[in-house]
Amino acid sequence: MGLLDQKLGNGGVLIAPIDDLINWARLSSLWPMGFGIACCAIEFMGAVSSAYDLDRFGIIPRPSPRQSDVMLVAGTVTFKMADRVRRLYEQMAEPRYVISMGSCSNCGGPYWQHGYHVVKGVDRIVPVDVYVPGCPPRPEALIGGFIKLQEKIRRESLQTPQAALDLLAKKEKEVS
Ligand code: SF4
Repeated sequence: MGLLDQKLGNGGVLIAPIDDLINWARLSSLWPMGFGIACCAIEFMGAVSSAYDLDRFGIIPRPSPRQSDVMLVAGTVTFKMADRVRRLYEQMAEPRYVISMGSCSNCGGPYWQHGYHVVKGVDRIVPVDVYVPGCPPRPEALIGGFIKLQEKIRRESLQTPQAALDLLAKKEKEVS
């Protein structure tokens, strides 16, 4: 049973796995750093406007990497900009996530073939969690991207993959 499915009576006690509780808190308060570097950023502005109301998902843009846990790369990443993108990513506290918004950020977009100045995908600089396709993607598509990220966070575990592997190796040793 999921955390949100559990009902509390008068003075009831909530019992839930710690992973569920932490993931629920994280996914309900995503603070993206609006990193608008080309035309896709206009659609991001649309998504945070009252017409689309991104705030209703707990998604509130922040102006600083120190306050953000999602880097939203919205636009064309040039080679000149690449080390700034990396530096801003490193300034964000963990856990941190990246959404690549639009064709330019996903793969170079219209500059894919002849754009000597454009990085052919921001995933060459930072790890990307969700790709939002389009040139530009509409605000609905961006909202869909955030929902995908929330689904991903919901499945996370505090147990790191390395810790899980160590546990498995220990169990195998016990059996043999
Ligand atoms: Fe502009 Fe299209 Fe590139 Fe977005 S994907 S930054 S709309 S050219």
